[in-house]
Amino acid sequence: MKKIAVFCGSSLGFDSAYKEAAIALGNEFVKRDIALVYGGGKIGMMGVLAETILSQGGKVIGVIPTLLEKKEVVNRDVTELIVTKTMSERKVIMSKLCDGYISLSGGFGTLDELFEGLTLSQLHIEQKPSGVLNTKGYFDYLLLQIDRMITDGFVKPSNKELLIVSDSVEDLLQKMDAYQAPEKTHVINKVVKHDD
Ligand code: AMP
Repeated sequence: MKKIAVFCGSSLGFDSAYKEAAIALGNEFVKRDIALVYGGGKIGMMGVLAETILSQGGKVIGVIPTLLEKKEVVNRDVTELIVTKTMSERKVIMSKLCDGYISLSGGFGTLDELFEGLTLSQLHIEQKPSGVLNTKGYFDYLLLQIDRMITDGFVKPSNKELLIVSDSVEDLLQKMDAYQAPEKTHVINKVVKHDD
């Protein structure tokens, strides 16, 4: 993997372990010569991750919608800054640019982006790995929620494998490298074109 999109908090969280996890991931990206694709912010976990990579001469591509660019949060030190019209356009560009996704600890924005990636995989629109770095078990309740969705018949059991989980940066990247997307099993037999 040459480019990975990372989703993470625009906050730092209360425990320093989260910030340390962002630094560890940034260091590993530099070591493996992986370019970071991210939301383009300079605040919270996003800012720490980008700064860790930039300060060591690594490559960082920020993709930010106009709405956020105007605020004080944009990181103008990135290697490349792409400004999009909307939040949805930003997601499309980020997904086009990257070979896989990693989510670190974060809030609603992070979960929205994590599930966007998983949904694209579930629909076989993309075959890219989605990983979460489970620092301090931060995603344990989310994993339990996914189990509940499977038990109650809303998620196919096999789709749990679309999400790669580890609490170690090295192990997570190794698992993502080894990821094989599942075979497409369903066929769409009717297509209705929607005209704008
Ligand atoms: P949250 O997890 O709610 O803090 O949101 C973080 C995620 O949403 C990041 O991965 C970003 O892509 C996006 N995001 C939220 N706030 C900002 C911001 N101020 N600047 C840039 N991106 C942001």
